[in-house]
Amino acid sequence: MNQVHGDEVVEISQLIPDPTCDALITKVPGIALAVMVADCIPLLLSSAKVVGAVHVGRRGLVNSIAAKTIGAMRDLGAREIHAQLGPSICGRCYEVSEALADEVCSLHSAAQSLTSQLTPSLDLPKALIAVLETEGVTYEASLICTLEDQEYFSFRRHNITGRTAGVIWL
Ligand SMILES: [Zn+2]
Repeated sequence: MNQVHGDEVVEISQLIPDPTCDALITKVPGIALAVMVADCIPLLLSSAKVVGAVHVGRRGLVNSIAAKTIGAMRDLGAREIHAQLGPSICGRCYEVSEALADEVCSLHSAAQSLTSQLTPSLDLPKALIAVLETEGVTYEASLICTLEDQEYFSFRRHNITGRTAGVIWL
């Protein structure tokens, strides 16, 4: 997908080139959905009938992209949904301005964090997990930080970098 940090969820029933959105869902077996990231969270959602791949960064969190995707999956008949959070930048590394921290934490208090230098930062995985718990979705989350682990691409470490893909299919 052509990811734009928005709140659009697109249902895929056949292969289409580069849909502009931040979440793909499908109930068609054999169609693989991919999300590409370098510090943002690759969120994969599975259920018996519907799967989803979601791009969750700071703006995606503010745009409620995860909750909207879960709602769209439930509209398609998904019952028990399980989430997997892939590696992303951690709450100690994702330093932001105080204004940005205030803006995000006013909506997602779980995002509040500090760097090791005690400057404002955001814990996006923790905030996303709080959303999943509110939505009644079970989850497992990677503990890997993409900025700290050289095995992963990190936009914060290298402005020009590759992307890690999260892929899911029925
Ligand atoms: Zn980190």
